Amino acid sequence: MATKTSRKVLIVEDNAFNMRLFSDLLEASGYETLQCIDGAKAVGLALEERPDLIIMDIQLPEVSGLDITRWLKDDERTAKIPVLAVTAFAMRTDELLVREAGCEGYLSKPIQVRSFLQTVDELISNEARA
Ligand code: MN
Repeated sequence: MATKTSRKVLIVEDNAFNMRLFSDLLEASGYETLQCIDGAKAVGLALEERPDLIIMDIQLPEVSGLDITRWLKDDERTAKIPVLAVTAFAMRTDELLVREAGCEGYLSKPIQVRSFLQTVDELISNEARA
């Protein structure tokens, strides 16, 4: 069984505070992180790096995280990488949109540390079993 240290998480997030928070939490848990503040570059990075999980901010300046997720899910090379959406929206309809775009997980900001790490662990171990 692979250890957490071999697991790579791509974080797509334009907010510096959240980027720092997510990467610190993940690295403290033994994950390797890749940081992407420009949504337009996320697909290329995912193709190059083949992360085990992508954390996707939905509110990005140039392009919606939902559109990026649709592009990832449309490409068989990246379709199986689980996507965990993080969004400031907290309404039920928004969760439906997030699921329809193909995201496997959804958390609203501000995130809670325990459920954030638990969700990351679950999505990565589901992927490992698939
Ligand atoms: Mn944002």
